[in-house]
Amino acid sequence: MTTQTATAAQRSADAPLSAVMDTYARFPVELARGKGVWLWDTDGRRYLDCVAGIAVCTLGHSDRRLRKALNRQLGRLQHVSNLYRIPEQEQLAAAISERSCFERVFFCNSGAEANEAAIKLARKHGQLVRGIDAGDGRCPLILTAEASFHGRTLAAVTATGQPRYHQGFEPMVQGFRYFPYNDTAAFEALLNACEADGPRVAAVLVEPLQGEGGVNPGDPAFFQRLRQLCDQHRILLIFDEVQIGVGRSGRLWGYERLGVEPDAFTLAKGLGGGIPIGALAVKRAVDHFRPGDHASTFGGNPFACRAGLTVLAEIERRDLLSHVQRSGELLRQLLEELVTRHPQLLAGQRGWGLLQGLVLRPEAPSAPQVVKAALAEGLLLVPAGASVVRFVPPLTIKPKHLREAVQRLERALLSLV
Ligand SMILES: *Cc1c(COP(=O)(O)O)cnc(C)c1O
Repeated sequence: MTTQTATAAQRSADAPLSAVMDTYARFPVELARGKGVWLWDTDGRRYLDCVAGIAVCTLGHSDRRLRKALNRQLGRLQHVSNLYRIPEQEQLAAAISERSCFERVFFCNSGAEANEAAIKLARKHGQLVRGIDAGDGRCPLILTAEASFHGRTLAAVTATGQPRYHQGFEPMVQGFRYFPYNDTAAFEALLNACEADGPRVAAVLVEPLQGEGGVNPGDPAFFQRLRQLCDQHRILLIFDEVQIGVGRSGRLWGYERLGVEPDAFTLAKGLGGGIPIGALAVKRAVDHFRPGDHASTFGGNPFACRAGLTVLAEIERRDLLSHVQRSGELLRQLLEELVTRHPQLLAGQRGWGLLQGLVLRPEAPSAPQVVKAALAEGLLLVPAGASVVRFVPPLTIKPKHLREAVQRLERALLSLV
């Protein structure tokens, strides 16, 4: 307590810069304007954006079609309560349902919130379908992966299998257990241990590709076994597609890359193209929510849903899925060539579509150092852990921009050695 007070006092003495809390270690750059894949700071410096607000700006910055649709929506209706039916929300739920294996959708405002809804659904599933009664001292369990990322609210951060995000915020929420990602034997061992005295596991919550945790693609064999085991035990299988969903993988949904249908998934980042929106979509058989079970004041408001509808429509109108497949392949090749040119610094490349990670060697500069050097070269990138540099550009990025990005990254790497 005393150390924290001293640090805070010292901080305000050293740098009385900003009224914004220091929850991020921010770069001293103020981004003021964007167009397509380019951003400009308040000094007029231009950056090639391979972050896209962390996989958010699906159509790039200041997209003309999204702008027009949202301007029109602002002139018609901005917000009404979920106490009434909202046409834009009905349409967006139908659009997600028509394009996926799910029938029903709940809307909220962020990825963490979508996962909170999924966690509550999982608890209900545990009670209703598996007969796990929290009252008799056998609290329902949710299994999640090590190195996962599910958000920063209390249950979502507990689901996040990275202890460094828990430190200082204990006690965590009860009822979470962790398994090593893509490890079938370890998963089965954990499941058997949890179920040794009867039903305990309500759900498995897992990313088809781990984004923040290091750009680790899911192994189809692991996910197929997960599906089998969840079917056998009637455990809810939930995919967190907050980062990989909405076209980023080169398929509309990440689960399509694995050949496995989950019972539910969560979306957020890319769905609104820059407007905050989150969603939980479920199969009809596990639609356990009844009026009063869950709610959100802003969730699914007309403005955010108009953004979601426009993003989905533009993905189709511009044939962005085939564009992402081709661009993803080009980015993969460019990164592989970069690895070949700098084998002493780079260990490899991995990812799907336009979510790619460049893996640094332990003796090379760290991912945050590379990202900082790239910023100096006018290129925005984001780390995924200590040793992976992540590319999550707008899905509209052109081949020439990808070449430019990798050239700038190479200059950044060379500036560090
Ligand atoms: C970003 C992210 C979240 C959290 O989303 P927020 O909108 O920041 O709450 C959850 N899951 C995954 C996979 C993410 O990438």
